[in-house]
Amino acid sequence: MACQLGLVKKVYRWAVQADHCLLCLAPVRGQLQAICSGCQLDLPWLLQGCEGCALPVPTGVQWCTACQQQPQPFAGAQCAWRYDFPVNMLIGNFKYARDWPAGRLLSELLAAHLAFLRDENGLQLAEALVPVPLAGKRWRMRGYNQAQMIADWLGKALQVPVLERAVKRVRYTQIQQGLDARQRQANMHNAFAVLQPQQVAGRHIAVVDDVLTTGATCAALTRELLAAGARRVDVYCLARTGRVPQAG
Ligand SMILES: [Zn+2]
Ligand SMILES: [Zn+2]
Repeated sequence: MACQLGLVKKVYRWAVQADHCLLCLAPVRGQLQAICSGCQLDLPWLLQGCEGCALPVPTGVQWCTACQQQPQPFAGAQCAWRYDFPVNMLIGNFKYARDWPAGRLLSELLAAHLAFLRDENGLQLAEALVPVPLAGKRWRMRGYNQAQMIADWLGKALQVPVLERAVKRVRYTQIQQGLDARQRQANMHNAFAVLQPQQVAGRHIAVVDDVLTTGATCAALTRELLAAGARRVDVYCLARTGRVPQAG
């Protein structure tokens, strides 16, 4: 995961027509980016993540302690950033204040990050993307699903199909915020169902969400996709938090 610095040298191909950097308000007229190159360099790139769950780990460490003890059901996780300022602010604005340019910017940077890993590190990209579905009640309250929007931007940039209706949230779950790792896992038990197993059978799938915290949500969805015959399941998220404390 020590390749993100190379990424900022690449020419970004997306065209976000912005007059000012989203972060420092410096003029970026004529450039094909929504934040200036200085702010891009300053983003909290996840330079060293656990191979199993992307948890930030010290240099030279391949697997975090939790994955060594009990690996996640997904084969690997790719997150571009640590969940630190200003990425946490941009995600918050996107998720709760309908700041679409912030969501699109981060999604397209994640797509460039994944393309870089594919081209330079031999990362096998997923054949299809599955956004983490929202419960119907939460969907009606919010009016949109941020994971679906991220998957759509990623899919468009990487030319990977998005499976919009392959899975469904079948049980309304408590908001995960404020729960510890064990409570999150219990909360997500049997939360999802695969409605269209023929769309996932034999395929390499990536589950897409905004933030990877304990991995409980993505793990629950991964188990269902594997049970429905998916060949391999990875996780693609914008950002990764540090470890959430265990109960007790
Ligand atoms: Zn800037
Ligand atoms: Zn790990």
